[in-house]
Amino acid sequence: MAALPETEQLRERARTALRRCGAEGLAEGSGTGHTARTPITGETLFELAPAGAAEADRAVATAESVFTGAWRDTPAPERGHLVRRLGELLREHKQDVADLVTIEAGKIGSEAAGEVQEMIDICDFAVGLSRQLYGRTMASERPGHRLMETWHPLGVVGVVTAFNFPVAVWSWNTAVALVCGDTVVWKPSESTPLTALACHGLLMRAAADVGAPEGVHRVLIGGREVGERLVDDPRVALLSATGSVRMGREVAPRVASRLGRYLLELGGNNAAIVAPSADADLALQGVVFGAAGTAGQRCTTQRRLIVHEDIAEDFTGRVAEAYTKLRERIGDPFAADTLVGPLIGEGAHRSMGRALQAAADEGGSLLTGGARRLEDEAPRAYYADPAVVRMPRQSAIVCEETFAPILYVLTYRTFEEALELHNGVPQGLSGSVFTRDQREAERFLSAAGCDCGIANVNIGTSGAEIGGAFGGEKATGSGRESGSDAWRAYMRRATNTVNYSTELPLAQGVSFL
Ligand code: NAD
Repeated sequence: MAALPETEQLRERARTALRRCGAEGLAEGSGTGHTARTPITGETLFELAPAGAAEADRAVATAESVFTGAWRDTPAPERGHLVRRLGELLREHKQDVADLVTIEAGKIGSEAAGEVQEMIDICDFAVGLSRQLYGRTMASERPGHRLMETWHPLGVVGVVTAFNFPVAVWSWNTAVALVCGDTVVWKPSESTPLTALACHGLLMRAAADVGAPEGVHRVLIGGREVGERLVDDPRVALLSATGSVRMGREVAPRVASRLGRYLLELGGNNAAIVAPSADADLALQGVVFGAAGTAGQRCTTQRRLIVHEDIAEDFTGRVAEAYTKLRERIGDPFAADTLVGPLIGEGAHRSMGRALQAAADEGGSLLTGGARRLEDEAPRAYYADPAVVRMPRQSAIVCEETFAPILYVLTYRTFEEALELHNGVPQGLSGSVFTRDQREAERFLSAAGCDCGIANVNIGTSGAEIGGAFGGEKATGSGRESGSDAWRAYMRRATNTVNYSTELPLAQGVSFL
């Protein structure tokens, strides 16, 4: 593998990308001491001024006044012009934003570019949506009456995002919220402030280009305390937060206590079942990308492999062999031949070590991986060999999401047992089955099958497209983002009854006066 880049090179690359996206000087907080760092070397890139209480208050006030003063009354297709322009700018600056994603989140080049592509795709989707915010007309039970529903903008949407999809998740929320007529205040992950500033910069340029008010969007750099301000602010009509289950447990009761709305996209603990009839080559590709891709740092990362006992030895051996080959391809995420970049930081590396120890204590045997890499070259960066651990049962550690590349292997005898294992964890984001048996495939997709928000056949757990609604069940949270009819979460529904008769008949035949 090539040597890791110098921090100064990365700093210069980040500076160039920020300048090109019009994002220099956009962090305008009054606080001190927020660092932008890179997991590639583990070093600090820049010191930023985080937002304080005053900036958070001002951001929400601006977003609210632009909402009531202009944006909610702007025709939706015209709101779509802003999102179309954002999509054009993202196409133009795809490499700049992808560079920042790699620098701050450590994603390899193709995944970082893929993340920006997802932003472009959702912009296209949202522009189409801007002419399709349909309401229904229902048959009224009363003569001379029309019964219908209309969808109205909701207000200020607070968007809180995680480090591992630093820009795509923002765009799923923001592109849709903007065409729906909402304004947005974004609190990005503390680990990825630069990508956030770049996106804000591009959106501000788009607003200037199409004549939209710049207050449709604000960004607040900072830690969880900044997110908490959005959580508690009654002017925030919808709080859309993506992150760990721990974060969701803190956020949900606080938003609920002010009877606000929330949309939570939380942790997953995703599994793939590999049946005896599976196309083993295809399953192998799906499992290795799902489990080791993005260094195990996707919400949809495959964390459990549930393989039929008749093929377990052979299939697990092939997975372990593929992992051995991956070892030569761990390192600088900018290098063309790298497949596994760094973990986000020391905390992730510690969690990985703790989980591997717990797995051993619970009877697991490590088949491959787990070692720290490149420590001499970059003592503050954390690279790890993706690990595979054979487990005797679905013990406590297997039921947790450890945000690192660990794949637990479990075996099954009957398909019912496989489903039970599959669904036997608290989380419910994504699941898949590799099988050529149609009965198994259909059973997996049925009401009594996979209990996740995303259920796949002959494709891995990770790598969703924007056209579908994205989200999970159980501890993964509630609500859906991105495609399909997820837009409804960003609007309020009004049921309207219009009487065009000369009588006033009451519903259900009630008579009065
Ligand atoms: P995290 O929970 O540590 O932080 C996520 C965001 O929430 C950050 O912006 C953080 O500042 C903010 N935050 C944390 N506590 C808060 C609080 N009490 N009030 C308000 N804001 C708060 O998560 P992370 O480490 O950045 O990301 C990894 C996690 O995110 C994993 O669990 C992963 O599965 C999950 N994730 C889920 C999805 C999904 O769509 N389901 C997508 C991406 C990531």
